[in-house]
Amino acid sequence: MMKKLHLVLTGAFLLFQQYTAVSQTLYNAKNVDRTAMSYYNGLRTFRALEYTINPDPVSEKIYRLQTLPENGFPGIQIYGTDNGSTVFFEDKTPYDNTFADNPTPYLSTEAVQLYFGFQTAMKILDQRFGWKGMDGTDTNPIKISIENSDGTQNDYSYARFSGDLNNPFFRFGKSFIHNSPLPSSIDIVSHELGHAIMKYRSNIASLSSLCTEYRSIDEGLADVFGIYVKNKFLQSTPQNYNWLLLKEIQTIPHDMSNPKSHGRADTYRGKNFDNGCSDNYNYDAGAGVLAKWFYLLSSGFAGSATNDLGYQYSNLTGIGVEKAIQIVWDAIPKLKNYSDYPAFKAFTLDVATQLYGANSTEYQAVEKAWCAVGVCDNNLPFFKIYPPNASSNIDPWPAVKVNFSWDNDPRVKKVEVQMASDYNFTNPQVYEVNNFDMFFKYGGGVFYKGSASGYFRPDETVYVRARITQADSNFCKGLNPLCQIYQQFSPTHAFKLGDKKVQFWPATTYTSVKPWYPEITWKSEKDAELYLMQVASDASFNSIVYEGFSPHTGNFTETGLINATLEIGQTYYARVAAKRLNKPILKSNYGL
Ligand SMILES: [Zn+2]
Repeated sequence: MMKKLHLVLTGAFLLFQQYTAVSQTLYNAKNVDRTAMSYYNGLRTFRALEYTINPDPVSEKIYRLQTLPENGFPGIQIYGTDNGSTVFFEDKTPYDNTFADNPTPYLSTEAVQLYFGFQTAMKILDQRFGWKGMDGTDTNPIKISIENSDGTQNDYSYARFSGDLNNPFFRFGKSFIHNSPLPSSIDIVSHELGHAIMKYRSNIASLSSLCTEYRSIDEGLADVFGIYVKNKFLQSTPQNYNWLLLKEIQTIPHDMSNPKSHGRADTYRGKNFDNGCSDNYNYDAGAGVLAKWFYLLSSGFAGSATNDLGYQYSNLTGIGVEKAIQIVWDAIPKLKNYSDYPAFKAFTLDVATQLYGANSTEYQAVEKAWCAVGVCDNNLPFFKIYPPNASSNIDPWPAVKVNFSWDNDPRVKKVEVQMASDYNFTNPQVYEVNNFDMFFKYGGGVFYKGSASGYFRPDETVYVRARITQADSNFCKGLNPLCQIYQQFSPTHAFKLGDKKVQFWPATTYTSVKPWYPEITWKSEKDAELYLMQVASDASFNSIVYEGFSPHTGNFTETGLINATLEIGQTYYARVAAKRLNKPILKSNYGL
């Protein structure tokens, strides 16, 4: 955490583009049916605007890809933007059912594809959920901009929702130089509309942090909208349901039943899942977990499989797409901008309880599908490990403590615990445990408990697994469930450590300090051993004017003296990191 030492007011120019075309008086404007060729879906009939530029109602009519609000649906505006010019897609006399009579580099078929796609998606979602447009009403028009990505910082091809609830609009870009397609198929349109609907349904205007898992969930849910609308449009049956997204524009389409096939994760904190936080944070990979969960919940799974955390699942019951999307739809308003996968799992279980009952087939299907994708405690009924899988904010200091326990069986002699920073257990910390405590259980019997401690930095994701490596010779005779982890690893528990970030006290972002013997104060961090203080004259800490250590007292607050001469009236930046002393096994044990 960073703190400014003196208040400065900064003014900045706010730059924003407005996508409104030149205003023009439209006479005799009304919505009518028009038919034209689309890019992917052949000839389509849709609602379009008929108007005249002359007040005389029998004067020459112009047809435009635009609608006025109608039957509770919002109006739609679509325009092509290129080199500073913005044009509507219009068909003027002599009418030829192509909407390219204003000069634009974009094809009529491309504009028609996007335009009828939005109309179709809105109609399908209204029929299913009674929800119109983005916010459920006709107040916010659907504004669609087709753009040229050449000479910009954008990807060659892109489809985006602005995410701004004050000025919501959709952008679709293509490159002429690279001959990249306009992403305009109905699944893509529905995906973007899904982003907009979710923003309004959960009232999330901005993100709490760059690396919130909400971004992965949001991306996965947008795919759910995409696949649902696409299959309704195709009138798919459960037998021929199509789980491929982006089929029209990518050589490797996104198969929701197999997220790893396109570089996404299919297991929470498993392969491809981004546990870290960086400028390149790959939230998109984490969307595969949601996609796979939705696929398994809808379709079920015959046979048996093991996820990246060694969790085995078999013969899952599918509840069908309609019930699955109802659960998703009802869970969306519960989302917060900091929600993570375990939170979203809890929301879907709440909804399943409300809709179908606590012990219903549907509830169990929701839970089992989450376990299949790694959002699960991963405990075996006969051998438990703490912390549970998928947990967070586990204390890294003084060490990462792992407990394990099992019931009744005194024949276990040695348990090996492995702890690592990745799901593959590259370079694990290995601990052999042969001291177990015995406890009496309420209601009879005993259980045994052992523990191991590993060393990891704050904010890391830790992977733990265990196996019994020594037991009495008769251990695997008869039906002993514990034998499943004799010489074979238990499912992995992945959990995230607390970040140990220091909080200033009081928790303001700026404060004034005395020029002589200046001090800063922060909240004590449990089990820290010392604190590193840095003071700089710039926010990036390139020009450090003071760096020093301060001991840990364990009082409610800690105070550090800045042993440097500061200039009066100058703004400085300070940061403090809680640290542990270096150990042979782990150096730089801190979370700056
Ligand atoms: Zn998206």
